Amino acid sequence: MAASLSTDIILPNAPPDLLLPKHAGFLSKYGTAKDDYDYCMTEFLRMSGMYWGLTALQLMDRLDSVPKEDVVAFVQDCFHEGTGGFSPAKDHDPHLLYSLSAIQILAMYDEFKAVDCSKVVEFVQSLQQPDGSFFGDKYGEVDIRFSFCAVATLALMKKLDAIDTRKAADFILSCQNFDGGFGSKPGSESHAGLIYCAVGTLSILKEIDRIDGDALGWWLCERQLKSGGFNGRPEKLPDVCYSWWVLASLTILGRGDWIDQKALIKFILSCQDVSTGGFADRPGDVADPFHTLFGLGALSILGYEDETTVKLKKINPVFCMSQEVIDSLGIEVQILPGGGAC
Ligand SMILES: [Zn+2]
Repeated sequence: MAASLSTDIILPNAPPDLLLPKHAGFLSKYGTAKDDYDYCMTEFLRMSGMYWGLTALQLMDRLDSVPKEDVVAFVQDCFHEGTGGFSPAKDHDPHLLYSLSAIQILAMYDEFKAVDCSKVVEFVQSLQQPDGSFFGDKYGEVDIRFSFCAVATLALMKKLDAIDTRKAADFILSCQNFDGGFGSKPGSESHAGLIYCAVGTLSILKEIDRIDGDALGWWLCERQLKSGGFNGRPEKLPDVCYSWWVLASLTILGRGDWIDQKALIKFILSCQDVSTGGFADRPGDVADPFHTLFGLGALSILGYEDETTVKLKKINPVFCMSQEVIDSLGIEVQILPGGGAC
């Protein structure tokens, strides 16, 4: 159901259909314009950028538009033999955020053999703390996002037994607030992106039934605005990336039908850039690979199809990767059975 909050946008006229070939062109060109200002300014998240773009291309069945050897060589260049972690780009520090992106990319290409995965396992293992939480890197910041990265990275490599999974789940549960949502650490404000990390981690650990799906489902439903889009917190503007964080979380909770799906599709399609391709956070803003992946990912969950029979591959709501890849690895996540009507 749509809540009526004062902060929202008015959608432009009828949105275009899904401009799939344009999006594929936008993404495959994005990484090649190496003198671009945007390219140079985003080096600190290059590995994740590559994961966003490649996953989006795979959902559109266009992964072959990027040379696989170049991608695998880039990932190998960012691997730190000493620590077992991956950096966002060569000569940067390794971090759990980029290690998950790197392992997701290698999983996509069935190329775990490209690096010494036993060292990656040791890197993740070394960052778990006595309370079950994870540091993101040697500098010692704790955040629920790092728990998700650690658990998802190990799950993709089938090495969850390297950490204390019960304590990892206990830490996640300690971040739950009275409103049903989750923050970055105990006592921090609820936020849809962090809720996705909490719900995703518990789903991988098969402990999702330890949370109250109704209370959290309500909080998530209330993120939908009259425009059809979702915000990440009360009183914030809608943003296409929250289509993913909120809808994927509701899907894992078995409550994806608690929202107005048609209105959400309309909002997401309105965020496409009809001239350059790609999706922006909101209609009329500049498109980027991050919002393109999460727009397409949400449309995939929603089973979007149009008259031209444009169809996206099925996405896994926990790993944000093509379901085919997750199936090929034999990984199962826990999805709650459907809740009552909203
Ligand atoms: Zn966003």
